[in-house]
Amino acid sequence: LRESAKTLRIGVIGGDGVGPVVLQAAQRVLEAVPGIPKPSFVPLQAGFEHFQKTGTALPRETVDALKSECTAAMFGAVSSPSHKVAGYSSPIVALRKEMDLYANVRPVKSVEGHDPRVVDMTIVRENTECLYVKQETIEDTATGRVARATRQISERASTRIGRMAFEIALAAAEVKKQRGGSYGWTGAPTVTIVHKSNVLSVTDGLFRESVRAVAKEYPTVEVNEQIVDSLVYRLFREPEKLSTLVCPNLYGDIVSDGAAALVGSLGLVPSVNVGDSFIMGEPVHGSAPDIADRVPSIANPLASIRSAALMLEFMGYVEPAAKIYDAVDESIRQGKVTPDLGGKLSTEEVTEVVRKQL
Ligand code: ATP
Ligand code: MG
Repeated sequence: LRESAKTLRIGVIGGDGVGPVVLQAAQRVLEAVPGIPKPSFVPLQAGFEHFQKTGTALPRETVDALKSECTAAMFGAVSSPSHKVAGYSSPIVALRKEMDLYANVRPVKSVEGHDPRVVDMTIVRENTECLYVKQETIEDTATGRVARATRQISERASTRIGRMAFEIALAAAEVKKQRGGSYGWTGAPTVTIVHKSNVLSVTDGLFRESVRAVAKEYPTVEVNEQIVDSLVYRLFREPEKLSTLVCPNLYGDIVSDGAAALVGSLGLVPSVNVGDSFIMGEPVHGSAPDIADRVPSIANPLASIRSAALMLEFMGYVEPAAKIYDAVDESIRQGKVTPDLGGKLSTEEVTEVVRKQL
């Protein structure tokens, strides 16, 4: 438990669409969970709506408040306009950079006694480089236009994401040991390095080599590797055999959306952005503009509630987080859910069900 986590002052960036309403649900659950200091919340601005009102998507005050006052944060969603809007760029990408949140951690788990397949994996996605350095060029040539993108893989970023994956594999195995249940298919903590170094021997070669170098510090963790295409095949054929995956940015993006499809609605999958000194929970889904105006709200709050639990877990509050996961699972088993999962309840009613379980 980090010293700074002993007070819970949480920045809340609702953003656009359903973002604010699902984070409201997460706050109400954090207020109800036993075993943590009483949380306080700092409402903060960011997003496309904010950009339209003020001309800036991520105000300086938001970043300053996170850095000076907050011990962690929750992020809702921002809508990304499909056409390019001059002056607008995604505040979540900027925020990850500002706060040096270099890992995006996405656990994908099935609900015991509900889902027919056992899925229990964690995708650890590098968050700062790969094709996301967004250096693209296009030129006219004699045979037509040619576009190029730069893909950056650094030893530093690959090493630190590797270390994060090994730490997570160990921590997850420890939690499993205490709470029962098996972990992965070997019963021992395992990290699978996802790459394509048979084709991209220099970039993916460096990623693989850097993670393997870190592995030496973790003799009790088994290391596997898998070419990304055959990993996707396994993801659909035998997801129960996968545990902790560590991926360069783009593969991580693709693999985690695929994995989310194994366990139901987008409204269920949590994530956390992690750096060495800050943690920010964030549901994987977007602003859901098609349902954002519904009154009462029918947005599924469970992804955000699980993201709040994940945030707590990374701060060291393992038991309180587990209580929230159990309460969420129970509401799913009982069918007390929003319409995206076939239920009839509103956002607020589902939140109440989870709070009662706590
Ligand atoms: P954005 O640009 O913000 O990502 P989007 O149009 O891609 O917006 P998403 O939020 O990614 O929308 O959602 C995709 C689909 O999943 C939509 O039909 C949306 O209603 C649904 N969805 C997403 N999140 C939730 C949620 N929390 N509860 C219920 N349905 C959701
Ligand atoms: Mg989307």
